[in-house]
Amino acid sequence: MTDAGLQVFVGIGANLGDPEAQVREAFRRLAGDVPETRLTGQSRLYRNPPMGPQDQPDYVNAVARLYTRLEPLGLLHALQAIEADCGRERDGTRWGPRLLDLDILLFGDQVLDLPGLHVPHPGLAERDFVVLPLAELAPGLKIPGEGLIERLARRFDGASLVALEDPNVARVGGQR
Ligand code: ATP
Ligand code: MG
Ligand code: MG
Repeated sequence: MTDAGLQVFVGIGANLGDPEAQVREAFRRLAGDVPETRLTGQSRLYRNPPMGPQDQPDYVNAVARLYTRLEPLGLLHALQAIEADCGRERDGTRWGPRLLDLDILLFGDQVLDLPGLHVPHPGLAERDFVVLPLAELAPGLKIPGEGLIERLARRFDGASLVALEDPNVARVGGQR
């Protein structure tokens, strides 16, 4: 591990309240509230239809790039604290509506199968709202067990994702 820590990608999703504002708030908190961690990139925000139960509002999704010196479970707990702070209540419904969902997509090149933490995120390769923002943010990224992000991105036409911002708004690399 270098001084900067490991490169981590976090998937952000929201579909209650003002989802766009929730996702922007999540970026602010990732930039300011997580110890030993820097936010170094953010994808555009995308609106897309819900996965699972259809009787819920559309989602807004995005992906963040972090460098962290935290251990994986330490980062997960920090993300869960942000979810709770942003008003998320866990009622046990998988893929149900939520104010904020923060998932660890990748943690360096680690493959983790811990109680409560699976990395790479098990849904990553099947989700256009994860793969396409990730490809935008990190061209050439290698996904353990899957290969290049571009290979995964070719599976999706992106038809159900609506970018909420112009392409040049994406902040890739350097700190904000
Ligand atoms: P999905 O994980 O399929 O996107 P979800 O995000 O709606 O579903 P949650 O209710 O947010 O699921 O989380 C359920 C559990 O998933 C959490 O208690 C957490 O411990 C566990 N979990 C396992 N792997 C991860 C990961 N990579 N990132 C975040 N949570 C994870
Ligand atoms: Mg999720
Ligand atoms: Mg989650």
